[in-house]
Amino acid sequence: MKIVVIGGGPAGLYFSYLMKRDNPNYDVRLIEQNPRDATWGFGVVFSDRALEFLRADDEDTYQYLMPHMEAWPDLKIVHKDEHMAIDGNGFAAIGRLEFLNLLQARCESVGVALEFERVVDSLDDFADADLIVAADGVNSFIRRANAEAFGTSEEQLQNPFVWFGTTQSFDCLSLTFRENTDGVFVAHHYRYSPTMSTFIVETDADTFRNAGFEAMNDAETRAYCEAVFAPDLNGHKLVSNKSEWRWFPQMGNKHWSTGNIVLLGDALHTAHFSIGSGTRLAMEDAIALFKAMAEHEGDLAGALARYEEIRRPALKKIVDAAVASAHWYEQMAELMRTLEPYEFARNYMTRTGRVSDERLQKIAPKFMERYKQHQAS
Ligand SMILES: Cc1cc2nc3c(=O)[nH]c(=O)nc-3n(C[C@H](O)[C@H](O)[C@H](O)COP(=O)(O)OP(=O)(O)OC[C@H]3O[C@@H](n4cnc5c(N)ncnc54)[C@H](O)[C@@H]3O)c2cc1C
Repeated sequence: MKIVVIGGGPAGLYFSYLMKRDNPNYDVRLIEQNPRDATWGFGVVFSDRALEFLRADDEDTYQYLMPHMEAWPDLKIVHKDEHMAIDGNGFAAIGRLEFLNLLQARCESVGVALEFERVVDSLDDFADADLIVAADGVNSFIRRANAEAFGTSEEQLQNPFVWFGTTQSFDCLSLTFRENTDGVFVAHHYRYSPTMSTFIVETDADTFRNAGFEAMNDAETRAYCEAVFAPDLNGHKLVSNKSEWRWFPQMGNKHWSTGNIVLLGDALHTAHFSIGSGTRLAMEDAIALFKAMAEHEGDLAGALARYEEIRRPALKKIVDAAVASAHWYEQMAELMRTLEPYEFARNYMTRTGRVSDERLQKIAPKFMERYKQHQAS
């Protein structure tokens, strides 16, 4: 079987690895536009629960990746200078580039042919492929070229965000809310290596306008954000890597394949970064497609239908949670002004509807104890 994968992000790399690992006689080829050692952004996080999927399905890869991760047991929320630890919310982080490099090595260890620095802009060269996997990310040209067949819907979320890094080291995944005369900001920040942290700054539409970000260059934007988060950066600078304001797209597809082309990862769906799940979803898609291909060997149409059938329900739950989370951030100005720190943090933790107060009591008993003390005082 000839498989061509377009896009060397987590979805494409992991799917290629799984297919070639179990089918050494297949011809699996992956094409990536970037050089091997380049990507955008900084680190990514996985929740403890998010990594369990990998452990359950592929213990070897889990053990291979874990030593490269920075892990911590709590989440921290900062509002009105109150630093609130939320126990029971473990996360692990890794540099995006390091993660991709590890997956590339994994692919090469089983014989996947990786080709870098080639931008694919037509599928004509792959007419002899049995399966074409569109793992070319959120701006997938393959999906856009077949938007009608896939039934793509896309809507832009309101809050702009910019993905920086910094040399300031943080204890754990933190959400720091700050306000100035222009409006409100939140930084999603965490250490992903001993020397570097991710620092994503998000704001709302009004603040973006009041601050005049539209007219600022990269250095001015960094200087502005450094001033807003001065208490948290402790003198460290923000670092750019193609760091510009973006608006997160909420995108999905009615059909996941057309003919012998199938969508995977961000090319198929988006889930707002505030729930830290995009990479995990991309890898879960890869596992689902791999399993469906194994179940329906020799029957591509059956395999692609099975992929959708097994993956859609689980995906929907996470995507719905991500939409609820993104909308919570769009209301953050009102919430920051009206809620006191502990109530604000409780509201945050229950924002997606997936965690009730009872569940929060179970997973974060120390936080809930402090929450109750504050309510009573
Ligand atoms: C600000 C921000 C923070 C995030 N934080 C997290 C986080 O903490 N945790 C998490 O799990 N997820 C996070 N994500 C989401 C995560 O980065 C993505 O969901 C994940 O990378 C999706 O993997 P993918 O392989 O589907 O797509 P991508 O990683 O986008 O990979 C697609 C690849 O295709 C290549 N490509 C595109 N077009 C072509 C072409 N025409 N020819 C050849 N190659 C092409 C691209 O260069 C790219 O390498 C974040 C996203 C954002 C925006």
